[in-house]
Amino acid sequence: MAGFQYFWTCPSCGTELELRKRVTQTKRRCPHCGDPVTFQEIDRQGVERGHQEAKRQFDQTTGCLWAFLALLFLIAICQVVGNK
Ligand SMILES: [Zn+2]
Repeated sequence: MAGFQYFWTCPSCGTELELRKRVTQTKRRCPHCGDPVTFQEIDRQGVERGHQEAKRQFDQTTGCLWAFLALLFLIAICQVVGNK
C-alpha cells in the first residue's frame, strides 16, 4: 500500500512518531523520554484507531439515514396536505 504509515504515540509522554514500517529495522526509541517503540504497541494503537474510524463512519452513515428519512417524511406530509 503506497503511502501507508504507522503512528506510534509514546505511552509515557505522548510524543507522536510517524513510522514507515511496522517493524523497525533498528530499535526506535522515543526521542523525548527514551521509551522503546514496540510493534505490539503500534498494533494496539492501530486497532484503536481503526475502531474510532469505524465508529466515525457509522455515525456519519446513521446521520445520513436519518436525514433521508426526515426528507421522505416531509415529502409524504407535503403530498397529504397537497391532496386535500
Ligand atoms: Zn516518550
